[in-house]
Amino acid sequence: MPPADVDTIAAIATPPGEGAIAIVRMSGPQALQIADLAFRGDRRLADVPGYTVHYGGLIEPGGGMVDEVLATVFRQPKSFTGEDSVEFSCHGGILVTRAVLDAVLEFGARQAEPGEFSRRAFLNGRIDLSQAEAVADLIAAQSGRGRAASLEQLTGKLGGRVKELRSRLTDLCSLLEIDLDFAEEGLDLIGDDEIERRVNEINSSLEEMARSYESGKLAREGVTVVLAGKPNAGKSSLFNAFLKESRAIVTPVPGTTRDYLEENVSIDGILFRVIDTAGIRPSVDLIEVEGIDRSWRSVRMADMIILVIDSTSAFGRDDVVGFLDELDDSQHLIVALNKSDLSPSLKAEALLPAHVRVPCVAVSALTGEGVEELEQKMLESVADRKSDMVAGGAVTSRRHLDAINRGTRSLSGALRALRSHATYDLLAFDIRESIAALGEITGEVTTEDILNNIFSKFCIGK
Ligand code: GDP
Repeated sequence: MPPADVDTIAAIATPPGEGAIAIVRMSGPQALQIADLAFRGDRRLADVPGYTVHYGGLIEPGGGMVDEVLATVFRQPKSFTGEDSVEFSCHGGILVTRAVLDAVLEFGARQAEPGEFSRRAFLNGRIDLSQAEAVADLIAAQSGRGRAASLEQLTGKLGGRVKELRSRLTDLCSLLEIDLDFAEEGLDLIGDDEIERRVNEINSSLEEMARSYESGKLAREGVTVVLAGKPNAGKSSLFNAFLKESRAIVTPVPGTTRDYLEENVSIDGILFRVIDTAGIRPSVDLIEVEGIDRSWRSVRMADMIILVIDSTSAFGRDDVVGFLDELDDSQHLIVALNKSDLSPSLKAEALLPAHVRVPCVAVSALTGEGVEELEQKMLESVADRKSDMVAGGAVTSRRHLDAINRGTRSLSGALRALRSHATYDLLAFDIRESIAALGEITGEVTTEDILNNIFSKFCIGK
């Protein structure tokens, strides 16, 4: 039974705007009673079984008809939130949907806060915290890989792994505590070597999970790609070739891409956030100087830089090597030798000194030739991280990574205590800290602040 003070919440669950259908959802102990006040159909919704759909009219408190709707009934505990729930599918106009919501609010429901349905699902034990977060990630996913990673988390893979490690630590902790009780009698239930072996085993699993964050980041946030190069090299044209639509302003006058444009492209299921920067060159134009400054800033934060070079202009190897010096080791550089339609005989490989291993592709942003090969090189550059991710169970959230790292630190503390022959209660203390840190991932250990922080980022109606 839900606690007596739980009220019934309602919200529009579909995005604003016109569509064939919109959904207003309601959840809470009074959901069926409130729905019956607003709904005029063959039967009272309070009398129908769960997972059934009913046609009828929806009225406002004054008795006026608001819309024709379909009401889907879910009975607790077999609903997303674990509470009685009703979803009204109405016609998908902004005003109609709002009027349906207003009607159920006037009949006694309360407007839901962002993420409140998911929060209830978590509090009622329908999903763990990592799964609730995965719901939000799944909705926000912009690439196939991101979607797959969120889906995997939603099915409880990460939560299951964490719970298993936690329960192994709990077993170990119990053994240590029992051992303490028997110590006076000279009995040793578990030796130091066995403790060390178990802690090390769990620690390496945690470290492996922490490493998967890098690949998880790839799935969630994608790869930031900056198009850099001299003015007129063809950065905006290449940007457009990627997008296959003209959004960036392409002009023959050098220096017109003053600010930067960003678009997301999905290549083979991986999200690339492509940024077109202003030309990097000395300039006296103040607005342009600001743009150039920002383009350097975006180069510094990029995962990948495509250096666009106009193959018809005078360019030297130093242009590339000098640029390479500016990058740090984790950044991938690809050279795009543009305007190949005007200089067909030029070989991309001839551009670089032998010791510089940078992928180099001849492209024509104008005709689109070579763009596919460039995309292939972009995929190859992240291939190592991609295969990590495909292995599955990747940690995709910074919050989860922090908890795992704290868990590992506490276990390292336990190992230090063991080696310095500390008593088992000190060891147990460190292990319990690790258990608590891991519990934050699934929500077994949580605070109001953590929950508020997570669910406030959800959209209303989720
Ligand atoms: P940005 O300053 O680096 O962004 O360069 P733009 O994309 O604005 O291109 C500068 C000029 O080069 C424009 O006139 C483009 O039409 C032209 N251009 C860009 N790419 C190509 C290409 O592959 N072939 C040819 N022939 N012209 C190109």
